[in-house]
Amino acid sequence: MIIVLKPRTAEEDLNRVVKMVEGKGLEAHVVRGEEMTIIGCIGDTVRIDPRLFEVDRSVDKVMHVQEPYKLANRAFHPEDSTVDVSGVKVGGGHMAMIAGPCSVETEEQVIEVARAVKAAGANLLRGGAFKPRTSPYSFQGLGLEGLDLLCKAKEETGLPIVTELMSAEYLEIFDEKVDLIQIGARNMQNFDLLKQLGQTKRPILLKRGLNATYEEWVMSAEYIMASGNENVILCERGVRTFETYTRNTLDLQAIPVLRRMTHLPVIIDPSHAGGKWWLVDSMAKAAVAAGADGLMIEVHNNPELALCDGGQSLKPTKYADLLKQLSKIAAAVGKEW
Ligand code: PEP
Ligand code: MN
Repeated sequence: MIIVLKPRTAEEDLNRVVKMVEGKGLEAHVVRGEEMTIIGCIGDTVRIDPRLFEVDRSVDKVMHVQEPYKLANRAFHPEDSTVDVSGVKVGGGHMAMIAGPCSVETEEQVIEVARAVKAAGANLLRGGAFKPRTSPYSFQGLGLEGLDLLCKAKEETGLPIVTELMSAEYLEIFDEKVDLIQIGARNMQNFDLLKQLGQTKRPILLKRGLNATYEEWVMSAEYIMASGNENVILCERGVRTFETYTRNTLDLQAIPVLRRMTHLPVIIDPSHAGGKWWLVDSMAKAAVAAGADGLMIEVHNNPELALCDGGQSLKPTKYADLLKQLSKIAAAVGKEW
């Protein structure tokens, strides 16, 4: 249930309504926007009569929210959310341009790629240290050593870092060292892991599960938010379809659909979607034109020799060319990075 207050409601009137909400055993979640103030009521609201609040002089209207997601719901927070990733704003007109190798392999590799993507204009550096591989015989990532190399690349370039957390065992270390904690497609519905993320305020990049519906995906964001961490960014990375020519099928409809469902920023990963480096350029442009709040693109200094996902990785020069063109599209849709 949401309670919309009248414009210019004073603090003491707001507090009175909040007390009434709490008196009904509900949690009050206040969002003070430029235009209006909203109180999101969390808890068992089914049997609560909206008229109880409607009679208050400061209340404009009361609405029941049908959707099972509340904190992530656009109705709870009509304006776009902006997530601050160590000084880099994401959402509300600001874009995250995340780039870097699929996996951190060596110090030279990650630093070389980090320097190149920074020079091209990226504002966040990615690199997998813990890798969720389909085969147990494939390269599994360098683990904590990889994380330390990524931190070195951050020191060298000043770029905040993004890397995947697969187990809550490492949450404390990630909280200390990582600027944006990635939860991969395969863990999107690892509810225990999602609940643990409430123990940090670090922003979370929640990738869409391989065959997750929009609602399942937003419900996973809701898990993180309900556990106490509202800094969530969603990332579409392609879904499984009948098509086998491409690795997955990029769902660009996710951008306008999620824009309606939620206030959270939505970014696109065209690398894991198509699985081919030559598809990245056109899909990245389409994503920015469709209003994405950012892109996550795999870049490798030597894709032919990459230990993971070389076939979908751009060379640094191609990435730099792409970013130049993207800045024009971004400007046309009122966005920047
Ligand atoms: C990744 O970004 O490194 C990754 C493994 O992606 P996904 O979880 O989307 O497959
Ligand atoms: Mn990859």
